[in-house]
Amino acid sequence: MSEIDGESSPDLQQFIDREHLLLASYATHSSDTQGRVHLESEHLYRAPYARDRDRILHSSAFRRLSGKMQVFTGEMGIYHRTRLTHTFEVASVARTLARALRLNEDLTEALALMHDIGHPPYGHCGEDALDACLAAAGGFSHNQFALVVVQELEKRYLNFDGLNLSHETLAGQDVRANKEAAAVGRSPSLEVQIVDLADSIAYDAHDVDDALQLGLLTIAELKDLSIIQRAILTTGEPIDVLPKQQIRVELVRALIDLQVSDLLHQSSDRLMPHGGKSCDEVCSLGVRLEHSTSIASEREELEQFLFETVYRHKRLIPVREAAADRLQVLFDTLSQDPLRLPLRFRNRAEQSSPEVATGQYLAGMTDQFCDQQYRQLTGPSSGPLADW
Ligand code: MG
Repeated sequence: MSEIDGESSPDLQQFIDREHLLLASYATHSSDTQGRVHLESEHLYRAPYARDRDRILHSSAFRRLSGKMQVFTGEMGIYHRTRLTHTFEVASVARTLARALRLNEDLTEALALMHDIGHPPYGHCGEDALDACLAAAGGFSHNQFALVVVQELEKRYLNFDGLNLSHETLAGQDVRANKEAAAVGRSPSLEVQIVDLADSIAYDAHDVDDALQLGLLTIAELKDLSIIQRAILTTGEPIDVLPKQQIRVELVRALIDLQVSDLLHQSSDRLMPHGGKSCDEVCSLGVRLEHSTSIASEREELEQFLFETVYRHKRLIPVREAAADRLQVLFDTLSQDPLRLPLRFRNRAEQSSPEVATGQYLAGMTDQFCDQQYRQLTGPSSGPLADW
């Protein structure tokens, strides 16, 4: 049920008026909101999606992103991104895009801060391992688990579980529902699309940066890629003569800038004929924001290169295998003996199944916490493990 059925409250009206002046018609406006599951009065000076953003930022799952690896492990140094710093980079790119396209920045930021909140420990290999463990129970997806985190697992309010986020913020994270809608020609809100695009711009650029810094790649290896040649050209500098560290930062900056500029240019053209239409109308028409054909194919070439060269690098393989083994042992032991789960997850095991509750317990862990619980489980103690 909406909290703004009928007349808008005076507090909400001020945001509606402000957004009417600042945002494009096809942005998601606060006046479009279908509200929250649990009725709450409007905030005096924060619009609904700004409250969502703050709720996500203050959640414990958000803070735990600092202890989750993105691609590289802490054993490889401290330069590389964690899920938390990646998330801030995504939010930064997404806000820039949203502001330039006159979309809703509050909603964009809320979606960006939430987008990886459901990631399990140990990066992509952690997700693959949990997905395999949970195969018989429907598999594991960090996108869907993010919804469990923000709707059930976070305990911040006396009267309800979860963060009670606005309908549009939750809908943006529901990748499964968005795929089903796409099959019948409906696109997600432009804010959702922007965050998705900002995510891939950010990780392509920072994975290049991290891999160069960690010595998993060389500039010489990268130089054959079209998008790297394009990035070098846009710096306007003879970057070959610069010190190696400087080449890296110039290159990464140019890589982000050229992709954001391309996307903005394409999006402005794409949205031009839709001036005056509402968010719902644009979604019904299935309007999609995307890169130009040339940048899209160059990005694909870069991603393929990163996949083969970096993500499968021999220095990463033993780390990934050991991490996957730890998760497998934890999963097998706890799902067969749920009395060793912390109380909260023992209760969830009774409501759903030991497999699902164990998967959720493991998915919420940081890398280090998972290591500790693994040692605890395989050590002499037979008591329950700790909650996070
Ligand atoms: Mg991401």
